[in-house]
Parts: sequence; structure tokens; C-alpha cells
Amino acid sequence: MTSTGPLTGVNTATGGSTATGVDTATGGSTATAGKTATVGNTALIVAAPGEVALTARTAPAAGPGDTLVRPDLVGLCGTDLEIIDGQVDPAFIRYPLALGHEWTGIVTGDSPLAGTRVVAEGIVACGHCSRCARGETNLCETYDEFGFTRDGAAASLVAVPAALIHPLAPGVTAEDAVLTEPASVVYRGLARAAAGPADRVLVIGDGTIALLAVYLLRLWSPAEVVLLGQRPAQAELAARAGATRFEVSPEAAGAGYDLVVEAAGAIQAAAVALTAARRGGTVLLLGLPPHGQTVALRVDDVVNNDLSILGSFSYTAAAWRDVVRLLNAGLIRPGFVVTHRFPLTAFERALACLRGGDGPRGKVLLQVGSG
Ligand SMILES: [Zn+2]
Ligand SMILES: [Zn+2]
Repeated sequence: MTSTGPLTGVNTATGGSTATGVDTATGGSTATAGKTATVGNTALIVAAPGEVALTARTAPAAGPGDTLVRPDLVGLCGTDLEIIDGQVDPAFIRYPLALGHEWTGIVTGDSPLAGTRVVAEGIVACGHCSRCARGETNLCETYDEFGFTRDGAAASLVAVPAALIHPLAPGVTAEDAVLTEPASVVYRGLARAAAGPADRVLVIGDGTIALLAVYLLRLWSPAEVVLLGQRPAQAELAARAGATRFEVSPEAAGAGYDLVVEAAGAIQAAAVALTAARRGGTVLLLGLPPHGQTVALRVDDVVNNDLSILGSFSYTAAAWRDVVRLLNAGLIRPGFVVTHRFPLTAFERALACLRGGDGPRGKVLLQVGSG
């Protein structure tokens, strides 16, 4: 991604309308798709906090009921950085693990879906506990998720329980598909917050989750969606997402919102969120700050202001299905948020890009295999 270029370019490989970028262009030529396609059974493994490397390993074997998928695009997000940095609550992580909880790929092996582009739910719910029985599969008593407690998809091959596999319509691009997981996280949170038509909504953050929140809020027909970010360089992405306004100071964004969505995953943003809702309003906490951080809460304000404070953890199977339906119907195209794409072999540059740097930055992708 160039730090100066416009966001109006056409992505090299797939024709998706993503930003043109130096990294996209040069990354593809320094480590070619052909090269990454022949790396064999490798995976981007976090052996322990601070230890991340492309590692050779034995290919996963498909057990009974598993489908083998060759991932071609894997999205990276702040949670991957927290996994690498050892900042995720230990209850939700099991090292060593292959990264990759946002991904799409093509089914391979002996399957009726062989050759089909799919996405796969990452949460492996047991299906029979009391939470699962209520459809709250995100809260399954046995937490198990690809990329967290079991190997993710930044790998040559993944074996996935067939029930978690969702085939995509031919018109769904890989860039749109790879956003299914973060879109499902956002969708589930927004569905929980149940914004009303004509509501005024403030979204805090300017990363992928915030941009997708702005984008998906249109499904609830709000009157206004203001995006409060930190980096002026995100203004064009905010406009693409459909933000009514993009602000970089809480004062300019103002307060009195019907719904405030904290999507920055930063504790300071949560503090702002708690003061920006109107009396009787709702604050939805979607972002995931590093484990253990706290924010001061004026409890009497919560009571006096009749405030609803909601957290939303990951996504339910129902939210995932809804997002896949919207994708397959062509009603959402979340791929607009992709700005960077690196071959798997250039993962260090991808991670550096995700950690900072100038210029517009939306979703950072790793291209696995020939894509
Ligand atoms: Zn993520
Ligand atoms: Zn369960």
C-alpha cells in the first residue's frame, strides 16, 4: 500500500476494487504466487508469545466427517497481533497454533464440494450443551476455535468438520469471502444491539471492525452513522463504508447517540463510548482490548441514564449463516475494506503493516497458495 496513493485502484490479482498499493504490487513479484503454492505443508505457527514463524509440518488428515480445504486468502487482525504478543486471555488460546481465523479457500480431496469456494465457521461448538441448545453457539461450554485453540488457516491445508463449511455462490469474490468472519462478528453484535430505523449511531474506531460496522449498519436503516477514528488517512475508507461523517476528535463527533459501537478494541475508546450515548441509549462493546485492562465507570451515570451496555463475543452459527446468505445474494460486498495483500512468505511485512505505518489501512491479507 502506498502511503500517498488514492484508494481508487484495482487490485492486481482478482479485479476486486481494493486499494492499489506498493506492497500489493511488489510483494507479489518478490515472492511469487507460484513459489508460495509449492511450499508444501507449511503453516504460520505461533509457537509461544513472541515466536512466530513459517513452519513445515505434517499435513492435517481429514478425519471422518471432515472436509479438506486449501485456504487461499487469510485475513489478519488485531487479535492475531494479541495472540503473537501473548495478550489474549489464556482461557481462549492454546499455543502452539497456526494463525488464521479469517479465511476462505477451495475444497479439495474426496468431497462433493471439491473445487468450490467456501468459508468455514471457526467456532467448533459442541451442539448439545445448554448454550448451544439455545443457539448461543458462540458461548458453547467447550470453547474451541480455529486459530485460537486449534490450528488456523494460514496453512497449506485445513481439515474442517463438514457442518461448518459454507459453499459460496460463484459471484462471491475471494476478497468478499475472506471478510465473512469479521463481518459475522460485527453482524452478531449489531443484531444484538438492534439499532432502530432512523437511529443516530456512533462507531468508534477506524480499523476493519469499525469500517464493517459502519457498512453493515445499513441493514438496520439508521438515520446517521458517524465514524470516530484516530487517523485522518482513513477518511476515504470511512466514506466507502458509508459513514455520514468521519471525525478524529470525540468533541467533533459529539454525544447523545442512540447507539454507540466501540470497535477500536482500545480501552480509551471504550471510555469515550460510555459517555457518548443518549439517556436510554445503548453501548455495544465489539472491540477486544488487551486482556486485563480496565476503564473507570461512573455507575450512577449508567443508572441515571438508563444505559444498556452490551458486550458481544464472536458470532453465532445463525449470524454466520445470515452473513453467508447476504454474500451469496450479492447484498453485501465487504471486500471494499481490503487494502493490503502479502504472500504468506512475506508475513513479517504483513504483520508490520498491521501494527502501524502511514496511509489508509483496512484489512491486511495473506495470500496462501496460488490464490
Ligand atoms: Zn480477526
Ligand atoms: Zn455447546
